[in-house]
Amino acid sequence: MKTVTILVPAYNEEESLHHLYKRILDVITGLNEYEFELLFVNDGSQDQTMPIIKELREVDPRVSYVDLSRNFGKETAMIAGFDHAKGDALIILDADLQDPPELIPEMIHYWELGYDDVYAKRRSRKGESWLKKTTASVFYKILKKMSQVPIQENTGDFRLLDRRCVEAIKKLRETQRYTKGMFSWVGYNKKEILFDRDPRISGETKWNYGKLVDLAIEGVTSFTTAPLRISSLFGVGVSIFAFIFMIWIIIKTLAFGDPVAGYPSLMSVILFIGGIQLIVLGIIGEYLGRVFNETKRRPLYFVDEYNGQKASNIPYGLNHEYRSSNHFEKEVQKRYE
Ligand code: UDP
Ligand code: MG
Repeated sequence: MKTVTILVPAYNEEESLHHLYKRILDVITGLNEYEFELLFVNDGSQDQTMPIIKELREVDPRVSYVDLSRNFGKETAMIAGFDHAKGDALIILDADLQDPPELIPEMIHYWELGYDDVYAKRRSRKGESWLKKTTASVFYKILKKMSQVPIQENTGDFRLLDRRCVEAIKKLRETQRYTKGMFSWVGYNKKEILFDRDPRISGETKWNYGKLVDLAIEGVTSFTTAPLRISSLFGVGVSIFAFIFMIWIIIKTLAFGDPVAGYPSLMSVILFIGGIQLIVLGIIGEYLGRVFNETKRRPLYFVDEYNGQKASNIPYGLNHEYRSSNHFEKEVQKRYE
């Protein structure tokens, strides 16, 4: 029998969890040809999220959980889930029920037809502001233009991944993660299905515009070095222009003399170029910062507890038995044996 893992990253989701569990249960009881694992990743919640998950595990052994040592953010919570998932396929589902679990049978249907990555694309975005919709759409357009990998628009993390996609993504151990880009980057057979995204069932979104801007910069800088290229090209353009301008001034001065003038234009040119230089420095800094963070080679997260077992401080939950063909992890594991 094939196992399907439903991965739910949860951060302060006490109000949604019972609804979520009920909705998932309704769906999976209809799918008795599969075994299910309901894997919660508690991302350092400060509310009752963890006790509720433990309660669920007591009544339903299909529930598993990874309790992270603090809040690491959804991107990291997801890789923690990938590392601990046992399924032949994995479905990522938001805890706030914005992703309807009712889509799971359809996803599994396409998985059985041989697709490795069945992703749900939003037909509509109920309960999201006009501003969020437009900024998201503009961001996707820019990202698509700049990076070589096609990134799906209006698609979140709600998708089914075959085991081999999961293993592929597990190999991408970068600290600053943009998982949505990784799904595209690893490739394999993709299938799109459409759905209407519901508003959050309760609570507030954990995203604010600051975080979204961060994620957007993450998205660009982790998948393309185009901004560096654009800066260079711009620099070349400005230099050529400045050179021609210089020659023109020399000729003008030789021919007509120099009736000292042009302080305002001089100032504006200096300020303009100065501004551009700062922006370009900022872009370089952005990439340099990424290099700095990656060279530290820190583990992505620490596990506090996995299914009731307290974890020692060995990274990636390696003191637990779980399915893994990740070479890197095995190497690390050897060091601890
Ligand atoms: N989440 C998480 N860690 C965080 C923030 C969010 O695990 O630091 C989880 C959250 O519990 C939810 C999912 O990620 O299951 C999506 O979060 P949210 O609904 O706030 O984002 P949005 O739907 O607005 O993109
Ligand atoms: Mg949400």
